[in-house]
Amino acid sequence: MVESSRTFDAVVVGAGFAGMYMLHRLRELGFQAVSFERADGVGGTWYWNRYPGARCDVESLEYSYSFSAELQQQWEWSERYSGQPEILKYANHVADRFDLRKDIEFETSVVSAKFNEAAKHWVVSTDRDETVISRFLIMATGCLSSTNMPQIDGIDTFEGETYHTGEWPHEPVDLNGKRVGVIGTGSSAIQAIPYLANEAAELVVFQRTPNFSIPARNRSADPAEVDAVKADYETFRAVNRMAPAAIRGTMPGRDQSALDVAEPERTEELLKRWEHGGFAFMGAFNDLGLNKASNDIAAEFVRERIRDIVDDPEVAETLAPHNVIGCKRICLDTNYFETYNLPHVKLVDINKDPIERLNANGVKTAASQYDFDVVVFATGFDAMTGTLLRIDIQGLNGQSLQDKWAEGPKTYLGLTTANFPNLFMISGPGSPSVLTNMIVSIEQHVDWIAACLEHMRANQHQLINADANAETEWVAYVNAIADMTLYPTCNSWYLGANIPGKPRVFMPHVGFPNYVQRCEEVVNNNYQGFELA
Ligand code: NAP
Repeated sequence: MVESSRTFDAVVVGAGFAGMYMLHRLRELGFQAVSFERADGVGGTWYWNRYPGARCDVESLEYSYSFSAELQQQWEWSERYSGQPEILKYANHVADRFDLRKDIEFETSVVSAKFNEAAKHWVVSTDRDETVISRFLIMATGCLSSTNMPQIDGIDTFEGETYHTGEWPHEPVDLNGKRVGVIGTGSSAIQAIPYLANEAAELVVFQRTPNFSIPARNRSADPAEVDAVKADYETFRAVNRMAPAAIRGTMPGRDQSALDVAEPERTEELLKRWEHGGFAFMGAFNDLGLNKASNDIAAEFVRERIRDIVDDPEVAETLAPHNVIGCKRICLDTNYFETYNLPHVKLVDINKDPIERLNANGVKTAASQYDFDVVVFATGFDAMTGTLLRIDIQGLNGQSLQDKWAEGPKTYLGLTTANFPNLFMISGPGSPSVLTNMIVSIEQHVDWIAACLEHMRANQHQLINADANAETEWVAYVNAIADMTLYPTCNSWYLGANIPGKPRVFMPHVGFPNYVQRCEEVVNNNYQGFELA
């Protein structure tokens, strides 16, 4: 390992939307910063997730940076929900516009970061055989950036092509006339399946848990709507930040329980939102995420729509989810359920006919052999903690993050973790992150960190460290809020339930406005819960 003489105020790990904005803010404030990025380009999630049909589930006018008035005025989105290529183009535009690339080192992965107590700095090592020194370490590593490959016997024996949706190749994948198998039916699969079906000669989908999906109703951007938003973008953003998920559509449309609204008005409201498309569906009433009886009404409504759409009643029943709607992140689709009416598309319920193994020709289930040219793994991510724990991070007394988080992530505000001084996480576990519009959460975290660094500089503090008690209380608080909702009732990746052996802890903080308020209170109370030295 080459000991570098390079010394920084801050090392930022990652150059997705979080890393890019963090770098920009640090430079604005006059800090010497570098970003290490494992990809050969910016964009994070939107760099890696290039599977056919990849599209954002938050509307374009909301899913964009707000920090630059000129940027948000000048950038034109072409659709209601942006596709991956357009979002990646936007990320590249931001990198160029703010001249970020000169401080991003691409194709460079951070492999370890060790805190030197005597020198009060981080020693950061990369896979380029270099170590650099930095006062601050800022993890902008994303929540869904470590892919999950299922533990199925014989995966390596399959002789066809395999792809994971989260690591889709950059060059086009030709599926024309091919027999394609898809494992998984989460958001990625639900978006990809209609596209894969368009090309493939045969498509077989292996489903473990059916998912709720609402039509996205994507369309071209409406110039009148765009003009109206741009006429007062600040107010538009401010209103969105007041919504529970920092997404306009998640604001309850009426402050009433589904149980307090009589038929036919109740169904009409759900139908109106189904026709409108998107997350607004869950805002139909004020308690769909809180009250099982209300939730059942919305869930049954969606099951009814699936039965309407899917011709074969048996297939429709297999596709109809029976868990709590919204307990796993709700999916938005374009023609997902319709795809199962195509004669060359088949659904296999692996609860009834389990996958035994992959073999040279394809997938062997208990009852059948399915031969494929291509198998697509749409099997998700080791979410929120996966990437952080793949880096050997060591804090005070050489304690590793892996050891500290062996029973689940422990953070204070989802921004810091006790005994890892001067380390910050952007959208870390314990913050709203994945339950929100990620860009809004990212901007809030970056601004909080930037203000903290400024405060430390102004007050000549060298170290910030979360207090262990404050952290314990925070973890309990995050779980207590989650327990007031229906979120913990299913096997979601929010709980780590998708990864065998991962501790089951509800990781994100439910609610954005209440979280922002807590972060502001902490600052106003002179960084309550932190030791500043
Ligand atoms: P996911 O939601 O975790 O879905 C993974 C799928 O693979 C699930 O159906 C899962 O079944 C299945 N699976 C996992 N291991 C399996 C195994 N061993 N055998 C059989 N099936 C297995 O992952 P994702 O679809 O990539 O989505 C992850 C998150 O990314 C989303 O929740 C969302 O936050 C984000 N995302 C967003 C968008 C968007 O903006 N539109 C698009 C894609 C993804 P179980 O459910 O039974 O575990």
